[in-house]
Order: sequence, then C-alpha cells, then structure tokens
Amino acid sequence: MINLRIPGPTPVPPEVLEANARPMINHRGREFAGILDRVTSRLKEFFLTKNDLFILTTSGTGVMEAAVVNTLSPGDRVLVISIGAFGDRFANIAKAYGADVSRLDYEWGKAADPEDVRRALAADPAIKAVLVTHNETATGVTNPLEDIARVVREFDKLLLVDAVSSLSAIPVRTDDWGLDFVVTGSQKGWMVPPALGMVSVSPRAWEAHAKAKMPRFYFDISAAKDYLGRGQTAWTPAISVFYGLELALDMMAREGLENIFARHRRIAQIVRDGVKALGLELFADERFASDTVSAVKVPEGVDGKALQKLCEDEYDLIIAGGQAKLAGKIFRIGHLGFVSEEDVRAALDVLAKALPRVGFAVPAAGSGG
Ligand SMILES: *Cc1c(COP(=O)(O)O)cnc(C)c1O
Repeated sequence: MINLRIPGPTPVPPEVLEANARPMINHRGREFAGILDRVTSRLKEFFLTKNDLFILTTSGTGVMEAAVVNTLSPGDRVLVISIGAFGDRFANIAKAYGADVSRLDYEWGKAADPEDVRRALAADPAIKAVLVTHNETATGVTNPLEDIARVVREFDKLLLVDAVSSLSAIPVRTDDWGLDFVVTGSQKGWMVPPALGMVSVSPRAWEAHAKAKMPRFYFDISAAKDYLGRGQTAWTPAISVFYGLELALDMMAREGLENIFARHRRIAQIVRDGVKALGLELFADERFASDTVSAVKVPEGVDGKALQKLCEDEYDLIIAGGQAKLAGKIFRIGHLGFVSEEDVRAALDVLAKALPRVGFAVPAAGSGG
C-alpha cells in the first residue's frame, strides 16, 4: 500500500472516501442545507471560535486571497511576516491586489520573533494589517502565533492568519488569541480531499470588510454570509467533499480536539527522533519544529531527487521535496490528518533501507528499525 507522506493532500480514511462517492444532490435543497449547517457549526468547534465561519470551494491559496481581498483596500500598508514559501505567497497575493507591502523576512528554517513584530509595528504606525503563516509547510517551522497575536492586539491591527497546514492538528485558539481572519484548507489536516477552504471572520474583520475596496467577486464573504443565512453557499460547492467532511468531523469529534493535538505532537516527535537516529539533520530550528511536517536536510553527496524516486518506485513511500530555493536541499515528511505512529515508523524504516542505496551510510543504531 502507498504511504503518502507529503504535507497535503493527505491520506483519506476509506469510509470518508466512500462518503465522498455518494450521489449528487440539489445544492439549493434541504438536504444540503442540513449538511452545510452541521459542518459549519462543527468547524467552529475546531477553530475554537464563535466568529462567523464560511466554507468556500477553493484550495488553500484561494482562502488566502479571500483574507486579503475581503479586508483590505489598494494602497493599504500591511506587514507580511515571511519565514518561507507560503509567507512569500501571502505577500505576493497582497501585492497583486495593490497593498503596500512591508516585509519582515527570516532565514528559512527559523521562526518569527514577536519582538521584531513589535518593533516593526512601532516603527510604522501606517500599518493596517499583519499577515502571517502559522505553520510554514515549506520549512517545517511553526511560528509562535499566540505571542505574535498578543503583539498585534497591543497595536490593535488586523491579523490575517494562514493556518492551512496547522488548523485541526496544531492548536489555533482563534477567539482566545484574537485572530481576525483565519484560513485553512481541506486537504491538509481534515482527512478529506482537496477542494474546500474554510475561513473564520471576527467582528473586527467585518468592520474592515465594510470599508475594504479591493476587487472581489467569487470570494466575497458578504455573498457567503447572505447565502449561508438561507442554508446555501453562494456558488456551487464541492458537494462530494462536503459529504466526506461531515463524516471526518464526526470521527475527529470522537477522538477529541486535544487528543488530536497530542497525537500530532507524539507522532512528530517520533519522526524527529527517527530522522536523527538515521544520522540526518532537521532543517528547522528545533524549538519551533512543526508537528505536521518535518523538513530534513539532504545529506552532503546525496541526490535528493534520486532518494525521493527510490522511495516511491521501490518502497511505495511518497515524500515531498523542497520548494523554491530549497529544491534538492531538503525533503519533507508530512504527518498530519489521518496519520498513525505505524505510518511514520514505516516511513522511517524505508528511509533506513533507501539511504544507503543513494550513498549515505546510516549509523548502526538507526538501521535497526
Ligand atoms: C498547502 C498550503 C497552502 C495552500 O496551498 P494550496 O495548494 O492552494 O491548497 C497555503 N499555506 C500553507 C501554509 C500551506 O501548507
């Protein structure tokens, strides 16, 4: 069986796949209204919020765009905190829509420092909003979001959060932390296929929305709110994925949110200990290493692409390579959503077998399994 260990799309439980295969229904009918209502309220439990929540049919990038176009106007000064490729993407979206982007950049592999955010906000009172990636999937680093949010609250700025690869797996306490616009995507921690983006909108974000002048149509949350009031989505939703999501959320509710967090912490630690036992080095600053994706340095003299190909062709293990400037320099193991200890132990066992075949001598203790 294929062991899909990339940070999204992630494996989907067989019963969820079966649910996805149910016949189509009228998306403007009573049955869909029931599903939409149940899924929306369940999702609020996972976002830990009482804010409005909308489900948009789009990938994660679409909901990042929704965060920007729904709250900002062209010319608005924004601070984008970037620690990797997804932070850069947030900045590029804001720029594409005419925001005046000021950047706080970190060396890839590091986390953002809330004190730097404080300095940046103090130095530039014109900043209206802060855009931040919670979990940087490209580098395997989780930003200290709670501390960053506390600083942003001190300055009373709008906080837009890309929680695509963290929400449901790593704590995101939307209301406790005062997060204004939080976005996530179905194919990461939610045990369902790609197609749905979920967003939560605080009262402060609604105030910004009322004045926001960036062009928008498909992602307009006013349309989403209007239709949700009638038990509908504004445009045709990915109905199949809604079926699966309702079941996946039931399964997750049975496990319990805090237990899900604990499972991700435990499994991530197994991965980190395991790769180190193989003689490999983590790419991330370990104090901020992500519990949903681990980035591992490709050892000197090893061809990262050849390692990936060998794992896939001969061991049915799919791992991810590095993005942008990290191509060939790291590989990444996804461990979020529908993931067990056995899944990651199996992946580590494959690495122990494959690494010597691409010229890396695994220490004796690491090869024992
Ligand atoms: C996956 C991901 C996204 C969205 O990517 P899509 O391919 O558009 O779904 C955004 N941010 C982060 C941190 C991600 O991991």
